[in-house]
Amino acid sequence: MPFLMTFSFCFIYNQLIFKPMNLKSNLALFLILISAILASAQEVFKNKDLTVTKLEKNMWVVETSDNTTMYIIEGSKKAMLIDTGTKCEKLDEVVRQITKKPLDVVITHIHMDHAGNMDQFNDVYFHPADTVLMSRVKPYKGKIHFVSDGEKFDLGGTTIEVFFTPGHTPGSIVLLDRKSGNCYSGDAFGSGQVWMQLLPHVSMAVYAESCRKMEALMDNGISKIYCGHYPYVKKAFDKTYMTDMRQLAEELSKGTAPEGEPYPIKVGIGTQNPMITTKGGASIVYDPEKIN
Ligand SMILES: [Zn+2]
Repeated sequence: MPFLMTFSFCFIYNQLIFKPMNLKSNLALFLILISAILASAQEVFKNKDLTVTKLEKNMWVVETSDNTTMYIIEGSKKAMLIDTGTKCEKLDEVVRQITKKPLDVVITHIHMDHAGNMDQFNDVYFHPADTVLMSRVKPYKGKIHFVSDGEKFDLGGTTIEVFFTPGHTPGSIVLLDRKSGNCYSGDAFGSGQVWMQLLPHVSMAVYAESCRKMEALMDNGISKIYCGHYPYVKKAFDKTYMTDMRQLAEELSKGTAPEGEPYPIKVGIGTQNPMITTKGGASIVYDPEKIN
């Protein structure tokens, strides 16, 4: 986009200042401006709780007013809603404004800011290792389908694959769209910082292994990580972020990470003495008493 905008500006400047306009250049100018508009993210729906923005072809991000995030992906046969956010009245109807295709609702992990509105849907999918967290979210009476590592959802022309990445929670998963190079990561690798201080979580060594697997995927076609709190970052993370995160997790696990400092946010389901340490663009919040 910045390249396109710079190019458009230079073209317009060149045309207006140095050359008399003619039909051909007018047409070229028009086409460039139209493609610049189409290439930018488009807000397609907004209400008091949330905004839906089209980020790519057949892919939308839903950002709630309290900074939770969902993604909608549409194939030719079906659509997928990834996570269900927190404060979203009639989320099911909002999703229907975007796609009318049969919907699979997949939850990246069972924390209330990702699984908050499961009760609006008859069926949901998540990893069985997060069942231990179900008592912490609103009671769910619908049908639960457990996913497994490598499971594929065929949406028609688009396949979404489950990739098991324990760490933030025991059953955290990310969802891969290998064709578009996208990974939808929930909180598995954080949104700039990953929270590893909440209970229950797995050891830093296991988390480091999840990071290694994710980093390897980024050498094999996955190029963009769309995180679970998009409003804070407004971009997809690239491999640099994953490398920083993997190195930091390994160092924490071995006791060689940069010295941490007290982390000011304390939540009920985590340690009351959390620390944070940073490497490059990635940070890990952790419980110093319970790293491995
Ligand atoms: Zn979480």
